[in-house]
Amino acid sequence: MSVLIDDYAPIVGPEVIDQLRQLSKPLQGASVVHLNSTREGGGVAEILARLVPLTDELGLTVRWETITGAAGFYQCTKMMHNALQGNRIEIPSSLLEGFEATNRETAQRLQEVLQDADFVFVHDPQPAAVVSFMDQRKGRWVWRCHIDVSHPYRTVWKYLRGHVLKYDASIWSLATFTQLLPQPLYLIPPSIDPLSAKNIPLEAAELDRVYTRWNLDPSRPIVAQISRFDRFKDPLGVIRAYRLVRGVIPLQLVLAGGGATDDPEGQEVLDEVQLNARDDPDIHVLLLPPDAHREINALQRIADIVIQKSTREGFGLTVTEAMWKGKPVIGGDAGGIRLQVINHHTGFLVTTPEGAALRIRYLLKRRELLEEMGYKAQQFVRDHFLITRHLREYLTLMTALRSGNQERIEAR
Ligand code: UDP
Repeated sequence: MSVLIDDYAPIVGPEVIDQLRQLSKPLQGASVVHLNSTREGGGVAEILARLVPLTDELGLTVRWETITGAAGFYQCTKMMHNALQGNRIEIPSSLLEGFEATNRETAQRLQEVLQDADFVFVHDPQPAAVVSFMDQRKGRWVWRCHIDVSHPYRTVWKYLRGHVLKYDASIWSLATFTQLLPQPLYLIPPSIDPLSAKNIPLEAAELDRVYTRWNLDPSRPIVAQISRFDRFKDPLGVIRAYRLVRGVIPLQLVLAGGGATDDPEGQEVLDEVQLNARDDPDIHVLLLPPDAHREINALQRIADIVIQKSTREGFGLTVTEAMWKGKPVIGGDAGGIRLQVINHHTGFLVTTPEGAALRIRYLLKRRELLEEMGYKAQQFVRDHFLITRHLREYLTLMTALRSGNQERIEAR
């Protein structure tokens, strides 16, 4: 589905679109490259899928490239990801050598594109070392970190920092995720696209088909967590919370997700979840293909409450998506979930399965409050977390980077 920038005017207001056009004027023709590790699965791919074409429509020339490697590369980057989020993991030097080799090959493969680009945004640790293999680069290079690096395993951060120091700047989702770096740090929270298949309004008939397809009962409440099967998303904690409620309120639990192509641990976690859920027909573990966007949209819409009980989280796009659909979210008190779930206002923040169970019961017994929280959640996303705000911040950042050390940037 091709979407144009003007299509957002009815949702965010025409003045927001005007502002984007104004901001893009000084950047006309600038070449931009985004480099990440996957085109499908996970929040980064989700954001780039729209940010790239919209920036292009505004008159910049934008490319989206990915780094791909062999199994050892993903094993290394997964370890790195977990270590940056705090797990004590020693990465063997053989894996780090493979990581660097893949980054070097990517730098060589994309040399023509990268060396002349005006702006290169490198997302997350996987391609972070490409910069170290670019001898000649003309543009500004920015490391865009989507994960929480506030309490990393030091050895691994120290290694990665060596590469990150070569960038001109870095972008982080939240101030609390950052590490001290000598170059400028920018804060840009992620966003969702209200016009993507994941978020557009759906007809009731389509929702009905989803109940039927997954054998869900429309007459009983549904609590859903839509996430990759990842330990940090705590799917077993969600099952525990559900079990604490089901004796009091007859409800159904949906745990839906697929694996990202860059996550080798997913299958293991899925196996544990399936084993844990197999004695209960009201726990629906749905394995979704990577392009199940409308399906996820529908599941979020038919849910009464959406849970995202992560113990560690980057931003938590699934939270934003659910809130945009008018759902209160019971979220783990972690990472960017805190920025979105305003406790007792747009949902609840919890730390334990018991806490989640308490909030599920509380909301299912107070329908009016549930609706009211859902409405507030939707308004909050409209004001803060839609793609148009994200685009505005990228445009502003590029203008700032281009103007170098000037303390004042004049808008034309
Ligand atoms: N998602 C998906 N299929 C799945 C699970 C998740 O398309 O099976 C989407 C989800 O709707 C959201 C993104 O992937 O848009 C996940 O982003 P989030 O920030 O919640 O978590 P991440 O996977 O990046 O840790």
